[in-house]
Amino acid sequence: MRIDILTLFPEMCEAVMGESIIGRARKNGKVEMNFHQIRDFAINKHNQVDDTPYGGGAGMLMMAQPIYDCYMKVCEESQTRPHLIYMSPCGKTLTQDRVKELSQMDNIAILCGRYEGVDQRVIDEIVDEEISIGDYVVTGGELPAMILADAVSRMLPGVLSQPEGFMGESHYSGLLEYPQYTKPPVWHGVEVPEVLASGHHANIQKWQREKSLERTFERRPELLENAELTKKEIEYLHSLKNAEDI
Ligand code: SAM
Repeated sequence: MRIDILTLFPEMCEAVMGESIIGRARKNGKVEMNFHQIRDFAINKHNQVDDTPYGGGAGMLMMAQPIYDCYMKVCEESQTRPHLIYMSPCGKTLTQDRVKELSQMDNIAILCGRYEGVDQRVIDEIVDEEISIGDYVVTGGELPAMILADAVSRMLPGVLSQPEGFMGESHYSGLLEYPQYTKPPVWHGVEVPEVLASGHHANIQKWQREKSLERTFERRPELLENAELTKKEIEYLHSLKNAEDI
């Protein structure tokens, strides 16, 4: 998969996306990531990429032309028209399901806003989708873009050493992950749950699934509406609810 990021801070993105699992995946050719400096496409004397908003208001807006030209260059380089995502607090909130869908695409491009955002005309002309990382505002689109690029990349074949790993993780199947423990077996007087050290695979799986259900029920009950559950699991949830009502 190829991911192109259009930004005013390519070095910031390169530094973060050059580390750890994603950095290794890039080196091993599992995912190609390119960072494009929007300012390189400014056509005025001072390489200005922002201007004051019509109608007044605080702050500056990114101008349409450098973003448009930068995206056209990406299209030319990649010989395709990548699905362009604008990271924006006005977008749909990112979910694991959308991450899975995006990871099936061959090529995506991500536009990072700065200042008060981007001239609406370029959004209307070239952006396919707006994605938000949550109901709050950060100063620029780079961190949101890196969250998206990281989440998508780790779904790609060969990026995680144990690909089945992400299937049990929070949100993959609609539930939150069960609690986990490592050595030592006793820490600050607290023991690791006995079943986990029993070596009994079926009992361990049952315990993990129940803890996932309990945690989701306690913390994010709304997720249970869309989770795929067996009849037994639904009964188990009812028993939790009844216990809570007592
Ligand atoms: N004035 C904009 C508004 O109220 O919707 C916020 C602009 S924000 C300060 C600057 C840039 O950061 C945005 O253009 C966007 O790219 C990015 N950004 C901020 N919060 C975000 C969020 N929750 N999700 C995705 N991107 C975000």
